[in-house]
Amino acid sequence: MTTPLPGQMMDVPLTVSSLLAHASRHFGTTEIVSKRVEGDVHRYTYRDCEKRAKQLAQGLIALGVEAGDRIGTLAWNGYRHLEIYYGTTGFGAVCHTINPRLFPEQIVYIVNHADDRYVMFDTTFAALVDALAPKCPNVRGWIALADDARLPRMTTPVMGYEALVRAEDGDFDWPLLDERLASYLCYTSGTTGNPKGALYSHRSTVLHAYAVSLPNASGLSARDCALPVVPMFHVNAWGIPHAAPLTGAKLVLPGKDLDGKSLYELMEAEHVTYSAGVPTVWLGLLNYMRETGLRLTSLKRTVIGGSACPPAMLSTFRDDYGVEAIHGWGMTEMSPLGTVARLNGEQAQRSPDEQRSLLEKQGHVIYGVDMKIVGNDGRELPWDGVAFGELYVRGPWIIDGYFRSDVSPLVDGWFPTGDVATIDRDGFMRITDRSKDLIKSGGEWISSIEIENQAVAHPAVAEAACIACAHPDWKERPLLVVVKRADAEVTREELLGFYQDKVARWWIPDDVVFVDELPHTATGKLNKLVLRERFRDHILPSACKVVN
Ligand code: ADP
Repeated sequence: MTTPLPGQMMDVPLTVSSLLAHASRHFGTTEIVSKRVEGDVHRYTYRDCEKRAKQLAQGLIALGVEAGDRIGTLAWNGYRHLEIYYGTTGFGAVCHTINPRLFPEQIVYIVNHADDRYVMFDTTFAALVDALAPKCPNVRGWIALADDARLPRMTTPVMGYEALVRAEDGDFDWPLLDERLASYLCYTSGTTGNPKGALYSHRSTVLHAYAVSLPNASGLSARDCALPVVPMFHVNAWGIPHAAPLTGAKLVLPGKDLDGKSLYELMEAEHVTYSAGVPTVWLGLLNYMRETGLRLTSLKRTVIGGSACPPAMLSTFRDDYGVEAIHGWGMTEMSPLGTVARLNGEQAQRSPDEQRSLLEKQGHVIYGVDMKIVGNDGRELPWDGVAFGELYVRGPWIIDGYFRSDVSPLVDGWFPTGDVATIDRDGFMRITDRSKDLIKSGGEWISSIEIENQAVAHPAVAEAACIACAHPDWKERPLLVVVKRADAEVTREELLGFYQDKVARWWIPDDVVFVDELPHTATGKLNKLVLRERFRDHILPSACKVVN
């Protein structure tokens, strides 16, 4: 028997700092442009960014922060947040991004659960920090991302970020860390129960950055200008703050204003070619362009994910604006990217309808991720595009446990996502629902996402949510909750008629309710928990028995 033969290659660890070091050395003059909370636009280069990230690392070490300590952030997408990404992880501390849109009690829970040493915050969150600080006794200091001259008036004693950075010289070498050490900590939004922490490693972060950069995924390159609309507090802005320095792409960070007009103006001014965000922000941008008649002149591709992208949005981007809108799927527990809907050469030769139907799905796995769907009996289901079951995943950037939890979420080495999906012969996955949002009518499942996608294809519908409503005969029947477009009119009957021949007859909702606004979660998803609660006592017309 021969003995295994070790390879003879350098054992260079995959560290987060290596991404910025690479950009600083090889794309040193490429710009990072940020819309600041101060109101102006800040510009500097990857080289400047690395220098200040090193100064920050020195400053934190001087404050007594050690490898493994968690540093919280409450911040928008901006250059200082980027410096914190690298200035903490660069010496082994853990960057813990907190979603400021969560309820304050959830943030308190998260800060205490993570045991954050310091929390750095944009000055827009000064009042929030004043509310949190008394309930977070283990935080040693709160650091405002500002000049000393601009520190907000607060009851909490705060330090100024700029003073911390300026006190150091940046003469610092990133240590060669063990790549399996923790890098980032991201909590899920916890729509059910407390938020849960996903603790990434340097290795998983770098491998994920490689994978998202590949042509089959984002296809970022040094010729691109990337603007992540997805916040840096939402699963590391889907890896763009790592993929951009890896590829040398210019980076544009939009700050707090994510309305259609602000995004449009920034994209045009900076010649943005690539972006990524959830469907709700794109709704704002598309509405703005429709109202003003303006067009995007530089944007080539945008990834849309985080919740199901309605096919109507994909075709508007593609057909009306010539932008390749790419549907993607992932989750916090997956760093987050899992699948991307892009065609191979053979698929791109198929009929336009067949291509469209593939592109509307959540897509094909990227290298590194494996997936399967399983039925109620735990057995794997066929990839026929029809059978649907719970989606399981595995791979090197998928968690194998939650932070500070002894209970393994894995089943036979796979992570159950809680999503219900089909996979077709091409390996394209389509999410039918989150398992808790499925509607069970007379023992059969109805996909709420499919019903919503059809609704928003109606020209008078701006946004729609489909939820289960109690029914005496069928247990549950679908109820459609709709926000109309400004100045558009449509009746309940017209909308229900719109479904004829588009979905199975028994999938057609039993009722439609019009509302001014739909509730969203802190990560921009439809908040169906709130909706189900609001319409708990709604009586469907089909549920009323005629009594003589
Ligand atoms: P949260 O903290 O809001 O749960 P995540 O981003 O981790 O944030 O949420 C992941 C979930 O979002 C997935 O499990 C899935 O249900 C949903 N999701 C993400 N992308 C898509 C998509 N393209 N289509 C449908 N659902 C999606």
